[in-house]
Amino acid sequence: MIQVAILGATGSIGQSTLDVIARNPDQYQVFAVSGHQRLAELLDICKKFQPQLAAVPEEKAVYFQEQLLAAGCSTEVVAGKEGLQALASTPEVEVVVAAIVGAAGLLPTLAAIKAGKRILLANKEALVMSGALFMDAVKTHQAVLLPIDSEHNAIFQCLPADFAKRSFAEQGIEKLLLTASGGPFRGWSKESLQAVTPAQAIAHPNWSMGQKISVDSASLMNKGLELIEACWLFSVQPQQIEVVVHPQSIIHSMVSYLDGSVLAQLGNPDMRTPIAHALAWPERIPAGVEALNLITSTALTFEKPDEDAFPCLKLARQAFEAGGTAPALLNAANEVAVAAFLAQQINFTQIPEVISQVLEVSTIQAANDLEFLLSEDQRANQLAASIIQNFH
Ligand code: NAD
Ligand code: MG
Repeated sequence: MIQVAILGATGSIGQSTLDVIARNPDQYQVFAVSGHQRLAELLDICKKFQPQLAAVPEEKAVYFQEQLLAAGCSTEVVAGKEGLQALASTPEVEVVVAAIVGAAGLLPTLAAIKAGKRILLANKEALVMSGALFMDAVKTHQAVLLPIDSEHNAIFQCLPADFAKRSFAEQGIEKLLLTASGGPFRGWSKESLQAVTPAQAIAHPNWSMGQKISVDSASLMNKGLELIEACWLFSVQPQQIEVVVHPQSIIHSMVSYLDGSVLAQLGNPDMRTPIAHALAWPERIPAGVEALNLITSTALTFEKPDEDAFPCLKLARQAFEAGGTAPALLNAANEVAVAAFLAQQINFTQIPEVISQVLEVSTIQAANDLEFLLSEDQRANQLAASIIQNFH
């Protein structure tokens, strides 16, 4: 029986993971879960899966423990950031699903890495922020890092099994084709993007996801973060990655080889497929996802991304190229800008403005110290907040 910890169990990825585990009860058991705000949902999860541990924010720990007792659950509550990190490195746990959104997921994910776990990575922001530090820790502690972001999981499936052992050139790999749906505003002009509402931005055409990643998909920052994620996961440079807009989200990404072969991974857009793949790898398990029917599916189309109307993709590429703390600053500014957009404090088109201003006025420094990186994340948060204040 494989024991699984789900960081961010109440979220969209968390719920999809629980669904896959519930379909494979002979192989997987939920050992630990975490939640942040939606504690009624976390309680339901505890009732259904009876985990040993549940992490909640410090101020809610006593209340939540009482709720568990009243519901007849023997789940033990661990509190706050320390509790979450301890949960991520619990000895009994073999697999950690990193599904917290944003920078808040960095320390618990690193704790799981340092404990040498198999990490199923959804929390791309953690890797984007800490790049080299993150990948070095994976190597040092012999953790197994498997992407469940659908594009990266697709690329992983299309690469040779031992791709990390040799260079891409030696393996005849020419480039990675990272697909993007284009989001709800694909084809819209820069001008028409100014007046879009949060409700429009989070209504993704193909995927049902958390609010932050939905806004990132609409602004193309999600693809920018994914470009950086792919650079670290597969040791490639941005020039080796071509972003291809594919509105149907049937092909989840591709690998192009020297001999003209292009390998793609296809499937209905459902996160349970990459989650099940990474849970069972190198085996396969059922995910509850309907098989793809190519006869009844719509035509597959492809186009270039519009980097003028959606500057976030370019900003992310530039931040990766600048290196050091730049991707962490980009990520922090984006998190603050997205929250401000959702709170209707800024326009959609001001999201990239906040990010470029934060990057412009900051000095990019080396990012090989975790404490320093976290302090830069905080500094960029405050800077972004003050830039937003000045818009008014
Ligand atoms: P979500 O908003 O649905 O869930 C977020 C989870 O994080 C919740 O469980 C919440 O309790 C927890 N959380 C939020 N703030 C926290 C904090 N400060 N401390 C501790 N926990 C906190 O988000 P989601 O859509 O499930 O996305 C989660 C991550 O997976 C993101 O990094 C996203 O980019 C990535 N991802 C999501 C999808 C998808 O289809 N939803 C696809 C690919 C990658
Ligand atoms: Mg993705």
